[in-house]
Amino acid sequence: MSLSLSLYIHIPFCNSFCDYCDFYSVIAKNGKFDIFLDSIIADINYQIEYFKISKIKTVYIGGGTPSVLGKRITVLLDALKKIPDFAPEEFTVEVNPESATEEFLCACKEGGVNRLSLGVQTFHERSRRAVNRIGDAALPEKCLALAKRFFPDSLSVDLITGFPYQNEKTVLNDIKRLLDFDPAHVSLYSLTVEKGTSLEQKITAKEIIPLENDFSDSLWLLCREELIKAGFWHYEISNFAKNKKVCRHNIRYWLMEGWIGAGPAASGTVINEENGTAKRFTYPSDIEAYNSSPFIKNAICEELGTNILIRESLLMGYRYCEGPDKVLFKKRFGRNVEDCIPQTLEKWKNKDIMLFLNSFLFDAFDELD
Ligand code: SF4
Repeated sequence: MSLSLSLYIHIPFCNSFCDYCDFYSVIAKNGKFDIFLDSIIADINYQIEYFKISKIKTVYIGGGTPSVLGKRITVLLDALKKIPDFAPEEFTVEVNPESATEEFLCACKEGGVNRLSLGVQTFHERSRRAVNRIGDAALPEKCLALAKRFFPDSLSVDLITGFPYQNEKTVLNDIKRLLDFDPAHVSLYSLTVEKGTSLEQKITAKEIIPLENDFSDSLWLLCREELIKAGFWHYEISNFAKNKKVCRHNIRYWLMEGWIGAGPAASGTVINEENGTAKRFTYPSDIEAYNSSPFIKNAICEELGTNILIRESLLMGYRYCEGPDKVLFKKRFGRNVEDCIPQTLEKWKNKDIMLFLNSFLFDAFDELD
């Protein structure tokens, strides 16, 4: 049986580390790129054979910071083009302002990339410095102008609220400066202080005073309101699109449509539609181990039984404004969503599930037990 899946590629390099980040990456060094690119290309080709993938639906190159590869991204893009019938309906690359050069963006465009995701996070300099985010406020602005030239209708921008020193004035300024570049899509995240990060250590050592949770939430809601006023559709907890320019790759995650992941720390989930179970493969967060044997047999494999997959489908599906794909759910599990959690759905009728997802899931999982 052949499969149609999405492809996530993790580029584990950054020019410097942001204090709040818990994604796997190492400091970018030119000498490390070639061996890594050879490894990841071998991994992708191997997985395509292994899972008998006939069609790559969407591609997302994330990280880390893919733009640190510079013109070498061409090596990866050329290898992808050689995959039989390679014509993804959406092909996104993540970039950061300090490395998204004209040369890099040009290589992406020529290599078939049709969507760019740019990490701005905030223009507020004091907040940027507080979390060790590289570059001053002028840097993302310069990059936005450049990115808009290459991807005028498919530019997505990440913003974060909840950084130290942010307030109503600074986040409104962030939104205003962003809207000047008319992005098609905005991902608006609320800062989470992850365990083991430098930010957590600085907070514990009282070097940084975090914002109060309620205040931080109010900043996120304020930005949400501004985006909606500016014509954006709030279609997923953290995502907003203009003119329905949603991220199709991420929608496939939220609807649990199956994907493979290549690169250290990358994860893929391959679903068996016949019995409603899945296998999840996750590579260790170790670039040296990955380079020495970048094959799926070295990834950790978890078997997801039907009950776990039903829970994941609800958890992921209700992040999305339209909820889980009901036809797929019935086909996969032989049950209707409504028959799994009837009381929860009745209780939450006419309420905004996306804004109170944790409470909704608490009720849903309680009912499933
Ligand atoms: S640039 Fe992105 S991936 Fe790299 S450390 Fe900062 S937040 Fe993490």
